[in-house]
Amino acid sequence: KKIGKTEKESNKQTYAMGTVVSLKVYGEKAEENIEEAIKLLGNIEEKMSVNKENSEVNRLNSSAGNKSEKVSKETYYVIKKAIEYSKLSEGAFDITVEPLVKLWGIGTDKARIPSKEEIEKAKELINYKNIEINEDGQIYLKKSGMKIDLGAIAKGYGADEIKSMLIKNGVKSAFINIGGNVNLLGSKTDGSPWKIGVQNPLKDKGEYLGILTTEDKSIVTSGNYERYFEKDGKRYHHIFDVKTGYPADKGLISTTIVSDKSIDGDALSTTTYVLGLEKAIKLVESQKGVDAIFVTKDKKIYVTSGVKDKFKLTDKEFQYVN
Ligand code: ADP
Ligand code: MG
Ligand code: MG
Repeated sequence: KKIGKTEKESNKQTYAMGTVVSLKVYGEKAEENIEEAIKLLGNIEEKMSVNKENSEVNRLNSSAGNKSEKVSKETYYVIKKAIEYSKLSEGAFDITVEPLVKLWGIGTDKARIPSKEEIEKAKELINYKNIEINEDGQIYLKKSGMKIDLGAIAKGYGADEIKSMLIKNGVKSAFINIGGNVNLLGSKTDGSPWKIGVQNPLKDKGEYLGILTTEDKSIVTSGNYERYFEKDGKRYHHIFDVKTGYPADKGLISTTIVSDKSIDGDALSTTTYVLGLEKAIKLVESQKGVDAIFVTKDKKIYVTSGVKDKFKLTDKEFQYVN
């Protein structure tokens, strides 16, 4: 399994998909591969970002309640996956969340607590069942005013696409991080596993709760510290409970999903955050090859069996519940 220590390494930090992207690629042509990866993310962003005026997502949103739009295979795939997770979570995961995202404005300079009436109005537009998808790539948002936002799933897709591209190009070892969506290709070049720090949700960025030792997996974390504002001592973050219209508050402050594909990890980290510990455990245990680390606001940690011996808790303020 050893690749050899003389392996060439290329590192790059950049900004894409609205977040910090960090890439480490080993082997011949490491630099070219990184350039290709960045291009690939740019293409995904052009298609799927709600912040790009001419994206396919914005085309769909503009035609809501009016007509269907043909989208690329890539966008179709991501939307189809999103709907699968909506069904699996009975609507806890729902990409038609956009009206709420816009209303609260979290992470923008317009962030505020909306009125009850505004929240009710936004909620009326939210329901994944009003997305009609056809295998020929036509998608129709059935209700006028409804909009989708792929913020909870597109970064995971991007991380998968980079990994596939690198594998195709013969790369044996790489570390991909798209704003907290980590995707590992193989092991480190000396054959040892990667050590991934899991963010401590109660401390500054870069301060870890513990270390996960693993290889060739995706590790995705959703947390209430990523984007938020505070008012009267209360934190309002960017993951919404579409049933209440408020930031999800079911007792979890961070959810980490370890899986083979990052698109699943991204969707599931957001979904489990909304569901709360009990339902989150049930959901993750029903999914083959998926593991999780859940952190509650009273500083308890739950780790599923598949990662138990791979996760080392380093912050002693937290305690295992299992
Ligand atoms: P991050 O963007 O920090 O990686 P997530 O992957 O959890 O975090 O995605 C959060 C984003 O997903 C929000 O900014 C919003 O665009 C969208 N979102 C919020 N709540 C939901 C939800 N219940 N279902 C689907 N998408 C959501
Ligand atoms: Mg997500
Ligand atoms: Mg994410």
